[in-house]
Parts: sequence; C-alpha cells; structure tokens
Amino acid sequence: MSKEEISGFDSGLPILLIEDNLGDARLVEVLLEEYEIKTQHETNLQEGLEALGKFEFGAVMLDLHLPDSRGFQTVEKLLSHFPETNVIVLTGLPDKDLGLRAVKSGAQDYLVKGEFSGEELAKTLGYSIERNRIKKRLEEAQRIAALGHWEFNLKSMHFSASDEVSRILGMPKMDGFFKFETLMNIIHPDDAYLTRAMGEQLEANNQVEQDMRIIRPNGDLRYITVLCKATRDSENHLYRLTGIVQDITERTLAAKELIRSQILYRTVFDQSADAIYISSQEGYLMDFNQASIDLFGYSEEELRSLKTEKLYKNPDDQRNFHEAMNKTSFVRDFPVDIVRKDGQVRACLITASVSTTENFMGYHGIIRDITDRRRNEELLKEKEITEKTSKLKEKFLANVSHEMRTPLNAVLGMSHLLMKTPINQEQHNYISTIIGSSEHLLGIINDILEISKLQYGELKLQQKCFDVEHLITEVFNLISFQAAEKGIQAELRIDGGVGSPVIGDPLRLREIVLNLCTNAIKFTEKGRIRITVHVADESEDAMTLQFKVSDTGIGIEEDKLDVIFENFTRVSDNKEKIYEGVGLGLAIVKNLVELQGGTVSVESTFGKGSLFIVEIPFPKGEPDEIEDTSKKIKPQITGRDSDVTIMLVEDEKVNQLVASKIIMKEWPKAVLIVADNGKQAIEKLESEPVEIILMDIQMPVMNGIDATKYIRENMGPGKAEIPILAMTAHVNISKEGKYEEYGMNDCILKPFTPDELFKKIGMYLNKNIQAKDQTMKRERIPETFQLINMGYLDLMADGDAEMKAILLEMLLKEPEEEFHKMERFALEKNWEDLKQVSHKMKTTLPYIGYEKLIETNIKLDRLLWEYQQNSHGENEVSDKAPKLIQEVIQLYANAKKELEVAFNNVKLLVEKT
Ligand code: ADP
Repeated sequence: MSKEEISGFDSGLPILLIEDNLGDARLVEVLLEEYEIKTQHETNLQEGLEALGKFEFGAVMLDLHLPDSRGFQTVEKLLSHFPETNVIVLTGLPDKDLGLRAVKSGAQDYLVKGEFSGEELAKTLGYSIERNRIKKRLEEAQRIAALGHWEFNLKSMHFSASDEVSRILGMPKMDGFFKFETLMNIIHPDDAYLTRAMGEQLEANNQVEQDMRIIRPNGDLRYITVLCKATRDSENHLYRLTGIVQDITERTLAAKELIRSQILYRTVFDQSADAIYISSQEGYLMDFNQASIDLFGYSEEELRSLKTEKLYKNPDDQRNFHEAMNKTSFVRDFPVDIVRKDGQVRACLITASVSTTENFMGYHGIIRDITDRRRNEELLKEKEITEKTSKLKEKFLANVSHEMRTPLNAVLGMSHLLMKTPINQEQHNYISTIIGSSEHLLGIINDILEISKLQYGELKLQQKCFDVEHLITEVFNLISFQAAEKGIQAELRIDGGVGSPVIGDPLRLREIVLNLCTNAIKFTEKGRIRITVHVADESEDAMTLQFKVSDTGIGIEEDKLDVIFENFTRVSDNKEKIYEGVGLGLAIVKNLVELQGGTVSVESTFGKGSLFIVEIPFPKGEPDEIEDTSKKIKPQITGRDSDVTIMLVEDEKVNQLVASKIIMKEWPKAVLIVADNGKQAIEKLESEPVEIILMDIQMPVMNGIDATKYIRENMGPGKAEIPILAMTAHVNISKEGKYEEYGMNDCILKPFTPDELFKKIGMYLNKNIQAKDQTMKRERIPETFQLINMGYLDLMADGDAEMKAILLEMLLKEPEEEFHKMERFALEKNWEDLKQVSHKMKTTLPYIGYEKLIETNIKLDRLLWEYQQNSHGENEVSDKAPKLIQEVIQLYANAKKELEVAFNNVKLLVEKT
C-alpha cells in the first residue's frame, strides 16, 4: 500500500510524536518513513504542547505514560489546550482499556505498542486524519448553513448539541442534563404555545417541523426552524429525540420583504390610473390591472382571450410598435390609437419593454390615455387662438382708428379753414355738414380708442380732489340744453351729503354720467330724464355714491339687458327709427365704472323707460384740496391783444413757419421764440422770459421728451413749471396720461386748426384767444397743376404771398435733404431713424398736395411701423423700403417741376407788390 492509497496524507503535514520511550519512538519513525511521512518527536507533554502551539500537524501520536502526565488525563489535557487536534493514543498491551477510555475522552483512535505494522500505523493515521477532516467539514457546513444537530435522551434526560446549535441559540455549548426552562426562556413569548403543539405532533407522527422565533440572551430576535424525529423503545415509549435547528432569520426577513414589496407593487399595479399589462409574444394579455379593463372596455374574461392586435386602430401602429420593440427591446411614449370595445378611439402613449424570464417571453408595459389631455391642449390652443384673434382684432381696430385720426383731423382742420374763406351760404352748409359728420366720426374713433385703451389696461385714473355736486350740475346744464331741444324735461336731484369733496377721476365720472344721459335723451321721445345722486354708503374716510339716470323712453327688452354692456351691442333698432351709435358707450361706462371699483346695473320696462344705476366708492377729500378746475376748463375772457412770450420748439422748417405764422397773425403782440431742438430751447430759456412752450416730440439733438424732463428737473423756479404743450402727429402721445407722464401739461395734435391752438394756449395762460373770424381779404392766385395741389399751402399762407413764397422755397429744398437721409438710413438698415424721417414727412408733404407722393410716403411709414410691431421680418422691409423710397424720390422729382413754377409765380407776385 502506497502513501497515495491511504487517504488523509495529501496534506503533507508532519506527525507529532509524543513518546518518552526512545525505542518505541524510533520504531514509529522508521515505520512512517517508509510512507514518506515526516515526524517530529517530543518526549514529554509540555514540549508536545509547545510544539503544537508553534506548528501545524496532521495528527498527534500520544503516549499515555509520559514523565509529566499519566493516564487518559493526558488526552484531556492536550485537548483542553488544542480541542481541534486529531489525537491517536499509544498504549502498552496491559493498558488497552486505557486506550478505549481515551477515545471516549476525545481521542480519534488508539494503537497498542508492539502490535501494529507500518501499514496499520499508516492506515490508522490516514483514517483518523480523514475522519477529523470530515468532521471539520461537517462543522463548517453546519456553520455555513446555520444549521446544527442535537440529540435528547428522554430516559437519561441527557441533551447534546453541535456547536452550531449553541451559536444559533446564542447559548453556551449544550451537553448534559436537559432543563426545559432553559429552552423555554429563549422562545419568543408569542410562539411559546407552539411547543405544546409540537409535542402533540411528535406523539402522533414521530416527527415534527416547526418555524418559530427566539430571543437570544443578548436580545437579538431570530427566526429558526426546528426539525425533530422520535425513536421509540420496544414498549413504544418515546426514548430519544434527534433533530436539527436552523437559523432562517435572513431567509425569513428576505421573504417578508419580498411579500411586502409584492404587496406594494400589486397595490401600485391595481390602483394605477394608467393601464399596466403583461402580454405574451403571441399577443395575449397575461396580466393587467383595473385601469386596463377600464381603458379597453372589455370584461376581464374577454380580455384574457382577446388578441391584442384587436386593440390597435391602425394595423401600422402595431407593426411599428413591434418593430421598435424588436430593435431596442424598449419603447417610451409610443403613440397609438386604441379602439375600445364600444368602438371609441382613445389616443394613448405606450411605454413598454421586452420581458424575458426562464419560462416566459413577452412584453410588459404601461399605457397612458392622453385623449383628454390632448383635447384639453387643443381646447387651450383654440382658446389661445380665439383670444389672440380677438386681441388682434381689437388691436387692428385701435390701429386703424389711430391711423384714421390723423387724416380726419386734417379734414376737420381744413374744413374749419375753408369756413373762413369767402364762401356763399350753400358752400357754408356743405362745409357745416362735413364738419358735423367728421366730428361724429371722430367721436366714434375716439370711443374705439378709448375702449381699446380700457381693455388693454392702458388707461390710468387720476386721483384728484373734486366736488361731485359741482361736476354733476355741470353735466346737467349741458344735457338739459340737449333735452330741451328735443322737448324732453330734465330733472336733477342731489342729496345733501353729496356736497362733501371726494378723491377720484372727475373726467371719467363726467364721461360716465354724460354717456348715460346722452343715451337717455337719445332713446327718449317724450317725457323726462332724471339724474339723481345720493350717498349709498359712508364711513369715516370713504363714501359710495350712487348715480341714477332714468328716462321715460323706449326701454329695453328683458332678454337684451345682459348684452347691452358688451362692445358694439345695439338692441334698439327698429323699422320706424334708426338710432345713431355703434354700441360702445355702455361698454365704456361699464369698464370705467369697474376700473374705479364700482358697479353698474340696469332696470328697464320695454316701452316705458330705463334706469341705469352706477355705484362708485370714493375716498373722502378735504374742501381745501379741491383743485380749481374752472381755470382750465373755462378760460377767462381777456383781449387777444395782450402780449405774451411763446416758445416754439420745432425742427421742421415748414412746420415752424406755419405755426409761427398762425400765432403771429392771430396774436400780433405775442413774442415768439423759435428753437430748432430741445437743446436750443433750454439754452434760450435760460435768458428769455417764456410763458408757454409748444414742444415738438421728435427732434434731432435733443427730443421734446428729454427737453421737458430737463426743464422740469433742472431749471430753477419760474422756469421749471412753465406750461409745456406737446405738438405731435402721434395719437398715442395725445392719449390721456401719456404726455403727462413726460411732464407735459397738454397736447395739440398735428395738424391743428388755429382755434384748437388758441384754445389750448388760452387755457394755460388764463387768456381767451380765438382765431380771428375774418374772411380773407387778400386775393388768392388761382392756380391749377397736374400733380400738385396748393390748397393746403394756400390755406396756411392765408393769402400771404410772401409766406407762400417762403413755404414753397422750403418745399423745393427740404424734402430732398430728407430723402437723402432716407436713402442713407435704408442702406444702413437703420429702420428706426428711417421711420422718424418718413413720419416727419407725413406733416410736410401735404403742403405739396401731391396725393400719390403723400400716399407712397404713408405706405413707407406704415411698412416701418408694422415692422416695429413685429408684423414683418427684416427681409421684407429690406426689400420693400428702398423701392418705396425710390418711388417717393421719383414722385417728388416730378412734383418739383410744378413746385418751381408755383414758386416763380408767387415770386413775381411778391416782387410786384
Ligand atoms: P350706442 O352707441 O348704440 O348708444 P351704447 O353702448 O351706449 O351704444 O348702448 C348700447 C345699446 O343699449 C343701445 O344701442 C341701445 O339699444 C341700448 N340702450 C342704451 N341706453 C338706453 C336707454 N336709455 N334706453 C333704451 N335703450 C338703451
């Protein structure tokens, strides 16, 4: 037998031989040498123990009779120091029993000296090493599996258990008399009842397996499983129990966690608002939640046998979905149209992935129904578009009205001027009609502008202290005259409390009451209209005033009462009588009232009359805070010959000339200081005593806004508060509040009539200046041209040949300079400055009176304006503007020939006189 054939020696470890008899020792060494087994020899226990402490050995051969230890205690001593050691005891023949006892004490085996051959020795050693190794492996396996075995003899009450059992229970090694309480002490109190059940099971089946919880002496909670088998004696009494204990804490906790997360996922699955499903590759739904049932509209049973392809509205959707899945195994928000059982189509997004497990191949996914969301988005989009369109409409209307004001003002201005020329009665009547209609049209345009301002929130309210009683009385005086003309009675009732002053916007209140009264008169043919004002509510520092306007007119049908406050609503048209109006008055009233935190309502009986009730809260004011508005509203009458110093700040020579001429002619004693721009104005203002300033807005070097700011902020007392009137063709600036924001007192819209100019100047200078109502005495030169029309220029020159000559001379020079600027700006793509020039030319070109030229410049101006409003892209402007400029230049060149003729004519006339 070779060494290889004897298992146990493959470790190559030496054998420790503890033997005091040198002969015996030598014999063992020689025998083992044959098997290439190395030995280390020690002669007493002490040295043996030291060697064990230093080196590792495959086994120990131990003589029981050593100089420092005798008998089987030698084994016990050794094992007490090195319990894992594999010991084979050597005894003499007479000590054979001792060998047996030593085995009981923990030795692996024993050999009787002189009775073993080399082979026997090697075999015994090999087996013992192998046995020890198996034992160790078993213990290790038990440790790894956290599994220990135990044995209990019911007769002797002896209990023994492997080391792993004590590790599991957290108790010292158990080997000895069994105490039931020891075990009961560590079983979880809630599981203690299980032991009884286990006993009953054992009795019945000889076997029981039970999971339970224990609490280790150190307080740890553990889960264990106990398996127990019973053996019976010949009288069928249980006499031995064997079993295992396993720590299953980790497994149990993991299982519990698994269950918990399964429950969680199931809850999410069941309660999800989105459809969640698992489908097989063949296209059947294997699992799905309630949301899926709700989405597809089939019952659970129907769904289980339904092929998913039936759910796709477009077969292409399904194909594309599968293609995408095959490519990437995952899709996110894949859009599909799902058909429900009832045929309804739902727009959905699928997020899915391929699902592969050992025995399943398919898909799992989530379907989100976005039909409602999409519908909401569409509705929102529609709403946005509607709002945008209605805003655009309003803006368009406001812009058109804005653009209409300039020519309309010109019509009015011209008509007024025309009125002053020598005309016969018939012409007078025609012009009166033109003026009347133009004023009416201007009223409508102003209404449109006002409502758009109101609806864009652009209108700012004033906060002034004023006397309501005074204001209402004024309105009443105004309308009682109109009422009397129609043969209707007008009544006014103002309660006593209304007399105290309030803070608010008197102009707006006036507008509200005036609008209601005008309607009342308009829709009443006989009877009366009545205004009543009383205090509806009052506190220490505020009061709510109630204004009632009632009439005995045609009334309003009940079903129309709701709509009359909307824009452009008119409800009283009938065949017999058509009432004027565009249906904006009440909309303006409502907006104005609400802007002031008030309410407006109407009561009406069709055919009998109407009652409009307005309630507005006002903070209370103090009597001495009331501004003396009479100054502004009613200029005092003084002679127009009084001297006054007026500063005109205007860069346009033509406009300069016309304005100064109008002023000087109508007011010969006035001193007129002309400045070309804001900077010049400031310089001149330093040294000149000026009473009022007429300020153009757009000017080179320093514009009117900056100049005004400078005057207001940096010039000393006496100068800083000089009234400044803006002169502009910009309707925007003329809007209430805008010029005030710039620090200006008022605004004159160009082109203006002399009357308008004087009225405004008079208001601020406390002087009543009226344009002379004199017919033109000087002769007019009747001139006709093919292109140009000298009408406007003649009117402005007012028969003054010299003035006409100067104007014409300017018109022969100035525009060309401006056109050059235009060309340069267009080349530089400087659209802003180009716009300024074209805007300026709008006021100059009417003097030439060549319609096509005026129109082309307006086209250019509008193009640039629209560009500023972002209606055009840069490309369009780059393309169109230069063409329009060339057209303007060409048209002017054509007109210039005629202008030269006109100039020469007038020059001749001047020279003659
Ligand atoms: P309009 O410019 O047409 O007068 P309003 O907005 O002021 O516009 O009024 C809207 C409509 O309400 C009028 O067209 C008319 O039909 C009706 N309405 C207003 N006031 C009265 C009134 N006092 N009596 C009868 N109908 C009125």
